[in-house]
Order: sequence, then structure tokens, then C-alpha cells
Amino acid sequence: MKTAALLLALVSAVVATPLSLFDNAQSPLGDFPTTYPGFDLDLSAPRLVQLDGQDEPVTMTELEKIQAKVRGIRFFDVTETPDLGSLAHLRAVQKPSYPAPNNTQAVRSIIDTLEIQNLRDGLDKFTSFRTRYYRSETGKESQRWLLSKITEITEKFASDSLKDEISIQEFPHSWAQSSVIVRINGTSPTDDGVVVIGAHLDSTNSWPFLPAPGADDDGSGSMSILEAYRGLVAAGFRPERAVEFHWYSAEEGGLLGSQAVARAYEGRNVNVVAMSQYDMTAWVKRGTREQVGIITDFVDPESVFQSMFAVVLGFSPSSTHRCSLTEYNKKLVELYLNIPWVETKCGYACSDHASWRKGGYPSVFTIEATFENSNHGNIHSANDRYDISDEFSFEHMLEFSKLAVSFAIELGGWKKAD
Ligand SMILES: [Zn+2]
Repeated sequence: MKTAALLLALVSAVVATPLSLFDNAQSPLGDFPTTYPGFDLDLSAPRLVQLDGQDEPVTMTELEKIQAKVRGIRFFDVTETPDLGSLAHLRAVQKPSYPAPNNTQAVRSIIDTLEIQNLRDGLDKFTSFRTRYYRSETGKESQRWLLSKITEITEKFASDSLKDEISIQEFPHSWAQSSVIVRINGTSPTDDGVVVIGAHLDSTNSWPFLPAPGADDDGSGSMSILEAYRGLVAAGFRPERAVEFHWYSAEEGGLLGSQAVARAYEGRNVNVVAMSQYDMTAWVKRGTREQVGIITDFVDPESVFQSMFAVVLGFSPSSTHRCSLTEYNKKLVELYLNIPWVETKCGYACSDHASWRKGGYPSVFTIEATFENSNHGNIHSANDRYDISDEFSFEHMLEFSKLAVSFAIELGGWKKAD
């Protein structure tokens, strides 16, 4: 608690004078409004926050939380989900295994149909809202637009029989902007597994009342997985296991939306066998090689607990050997993408996959580049636009759509009727 108190002192230093909030930050933001029409954000509201490197959550105000984020401190806001992961230890010993990808023909036939123009059109609209901040009216409008776009795609591209197997739902939160969950039912009567493909629909400026087009963070991931969904339903995808597409609200508030969803799934004992997060899929920094960043920290590992359990039960190493979901994801990149993967790390709780991991579910995270070469210069500002630089690449985004298609087919399973 001592270090927590120190850290709090650090983040509290500016609280008395909100207008100097960003004096030491990179962005010279000028005068900061402390309200804006359509915002429902109380800067003095108390929040329970689990900070990077701290065992116990600490209480801080919304303003202190925003300040911590500006300083690059990563956290879960656990105010509404303090018990997420209370059953995670039970899940650790029954982790699923992932057989080698083998549905090559089906995957390739769909990734050939994915279209860059759809990514452009979708992102153009999605970034036209002043901000997609989760406690703003325009944030709610942007979420409603996404919901209507998914509905339109489903109406247009899914066959009547497939439509009967698809549900499109808002997952409500205590704030106005909902998360969006789209489910394609599985055909298997015995396999209750669920494969989840996720992105976050909200955006933020470092100072939340300011504009945040959020083209890369995370408009890019949101549109990459939407195009994957379109390609799959247009091809009549009928997975054996249920496949779900999630667009989370309030990632920028401390993974609030994804924690709420993961908590609900944990409470219903939903068998999520694999979760893959797409957050920032567009940026190819000048002078760097185009790659897919595979995050290797705070993702699905071969847990120490699992290894010990196997030893205790007397399993031989070979019979318990399991390809981690991260290794599996690399194989998909090798098989189906035009660019190679590179391992990278991003630190504690850096996107919504962390909420699933906290719930004990296998989850992975892929990003546009190594963490160092991703789009740090523009995100969380009014400059997070797709026309800011030719480093913003729709071709690159499409590679992630391919990855999402292959993840859905290879892990969801699909016996195509000829
Ligand atoms: Zn993000």
C-alpha cells in the first residue's frame, strides 16, 4: 500500500489545478475545457483502480485516473468488476488445445474476397464522430452507427438460413455507450466452445473532452474485424463452435467494457476457448518493415500452474505439450498473411485481451508493428486520422482482416457442404 500511496501522490499532484494537467505531458494542449455538451463525465467520481505493479486496487478520482493514463501508467478500472477472475484458477487446469491449422482452402477462398474499399468507407464514417468517448453523446451515436452497419451487412450478405443463426446485441453498461456482441451459432450439438474476436469501439483524447477521431486506436481494429465478419457471412460461414465478434466500449477508461463482458461470461461459465484482440492495425512506420506485432507478455501462456499440475499427475511432457494460442496465432500469420510476424511486448493490461486473461481465458493480442514502432505520435489526439500520413495503410489493415478470418475458421471449425 505504501508504493500505491506514493504513486497516488504522484498522480494527485496536479489535481488541484486541472488546467495544468498536461504541463509535463508530450501534447501541448492549450486550455482544457472541464465540460463539454453531451458529456456525462464527473471528474471527481471515485474509481477503484488496479494499477500496473500493484497487488491491491486503490481508490482515485476519475481525474486522477485520466492523469495516470497520460503518464503511461496502465490499469484496470475494477470499480464495477472487482471479482472478475475469481474462478480463473479453476479454468487454468482445463485449457483447450489447438490442433494445427488445416482448413486452408476455406480460409483462402474467403480472404480473397476481402475489400480495402470497405475498410476505407467504414473508417471514414467511424472517424467522423467528434469523439467516440464512452461517456459522450457522439460516443453513443458512433456505437449506434456501428450496430446499424453490422445489421446492414448481415441483411445484405447473409443467407436467410444463416441469418437465423446470427444474433446482434448491445451489451449495456452503466454509461450510455454499449459494447456490441455479434454471435454466429455453432452447428455442433456437443461442443459448447466459443471463439471471440475483439476490438474496441471507443476512442479518447488524452483530455477526454477534446476531439478524438480514433482512426488507428481503435477504428482500425474495429473495421479490420468488421470486414472479416462481412467476408465470413457472405461466404455462408457455419462454424462448428460459436464464433463471436465483440466491439468493446470504454477500453480507454481502463478496460471497462471488456471486463464487464468477461465477468458476465465467467458468471455464466461460458467456455471461451480462444480470444483474439485487434487494437491498432493500420500504422506502418516509415523506414520499417511491414510486420504483424505478436504481443508475448500478459497473453495466453503455458501457465506455471498448469505445468506443475501435469507433473503432479505424472503426465509425460509430450502428452501435455500444448501449443499456446500465441504460437497458434503465429502459425496463422505464416500460413495466410503476406507479411511476417514479429514478437513484441506492451506491458500490463494494454488492451481488452487482458480482461479475458484475468478471467482465466486464453487470449492473444496482435498489433500493427512492434510496440515501439506503433503509432504513439498520433493516438489519443485529434491527429489520430487516416489522412494524417501515408504511414496509415489500409492494405496493412486488410492483413489483420485476413488473420481474423483465419482465426474464426480454423478455431471455429467449418465443414463446408459442397
Ligand atoms: Zn486502443
